Amino acid sequence: MMDEFHIYVQEETKAALMSGSPLIPKDGLMPGQTLPDEGTVVHVRSADDELIGTGYIGEQTKGVGWLVSRRADTVMDASFFAEKIQQAWHHRRSLHQSQETTAYRIFNGEGDGVGGLAIDYYHGYALIHWYSAGIFAFQTEVLQALAALPGVQGVYEKKRFETGAIVEEEEDFVQGERAPEPLIVHENGINYAVDLDDGPMTGIFLDQRHVRRKIRDEYARGRTVLNTFSYTGAFSVSAALGGAVHTTSVDLANRSYAKTVEQFSINGLDYEAHDIVVQDVFQYFKRAKKQDKAFDLVVVDPPSFARSKKKTFSVKKDYQALLEEVIAVTANDGIVVASTNANVVAMKKFRSFVDRACQSMKLDYQILETHRLPEDFPTVKTKAYDSDYLKVIIFKVSRK
Ligand code: SAH
Repeated sequence: MMDEFHIYVQEETKAALMSGSPLIPKDGLMPGQTLPDEGTVVHVRSADDELIGTGYIGEQTKGVGWLVSRRADTVMDASFFAEKIQQAWHHRRSLHQSQETTAYRIFNGEGDGVGGLAIDYYHGYALIHWYSAGIFAFQTEVLQALAALPGVQGVYEKKRFETGAIVEEEEDFVQGERAPEPLIVHENGINYAVDLDDGPMTGIFLDQRHVRRKIRDEYARGRTVLNTFSYTGAFSVSAALGGAVHTTSVDLANRSYAKTVEQFSINGLDYEAHDIVVQDVFQYFKRAKKQDKAFDLVVVDPPSFARSKKKTFSVKKDYQALLEEVIAVTANDGIVVASTNANVVAMKKFRSFVDRACQSMKLDYQILETHRLPEDFPTVKTKAYDSDYLKVIIFKVSRK
């Protein structure tokens, strides 16, 4: 028989785990324990030795691992992963049937039953995100489960934990056929070029699918658009296809220019009719204000944390000020699409940033709609835990 490992948690953590929170927090452990190695399957117990469930060790930010069941007899073998991954695949069946959308998430960590593991689908290819060395220990089992899925021709992976290796040297391709470069995926009929083996990002953030559709279908027509932190210009392309009269994309990264040209071009749009600006957005705001620019639609979706030459940006400290800059270049009766993926800022807090920014700019505002993660990103939400990190508020500003 295999050795059994037990880890012991404090009373409060026991209550949280019992009520559905899947994360085993570092600061919820009973003191004085030596944790087994990454990837070890453990029984999680309370201080009074009651069994809470089965999990695995995988260090990731505030957690030391994840609970995967409330039972004692769960075995994390190939059939465990096959079952979880097939179930998650089955839940996305309406997306698999779509011709219009061929890129979306097929496994979303704890929302699909295994924290630390996410898998995206890009037009025939799977991309695995491993969030800890612990979950990566199950690579064989996960690859086997993916090989059995219909419609997965090849598999790529991103190790999103410290490996000690020089990341650039690693290849992300793991099994099956290699994807073309670039790979063209469809989303609500829009084309997006992605590259599955080009650093940590692929060219598109799949969690914004509904927001891009709304911009195209409801907010772009006849409007001038400013897309800040534009990356490959995905929001600009959706706006241009939706009838925007002009778009301006602003991103600091040099490579964003060619990537944005590519996204426009593969949709049959003339990128020369649009502005693609490689610049720090805060510099851009200064220039735009001097020139009295006012856009009818402004998209703001910054990274959670960014460091540029002059300053650092953190969502918690700086988002409200960022919104004030955004509002300053938004036309009267213009619309702002404000987004954040920062877990540290809850929806209530994010709404307060919008409220305070509008107040300090002496403008009225009206929230038109809000978005959280789409249905292919299922989440766990309990009193103690919320994995729905995405917050989008679409609002209209008008002079008082
Ligand atoms: N909104 C984009 C994703 C943004 S990713 C989308 O939906 O596709 C974050 C981007 O912000 C990166 O491309 C990064 O280069 C850019 N960035 C970070 N700090 C910046 C700054 N100060 N000014 C302009 N761009 C910045």
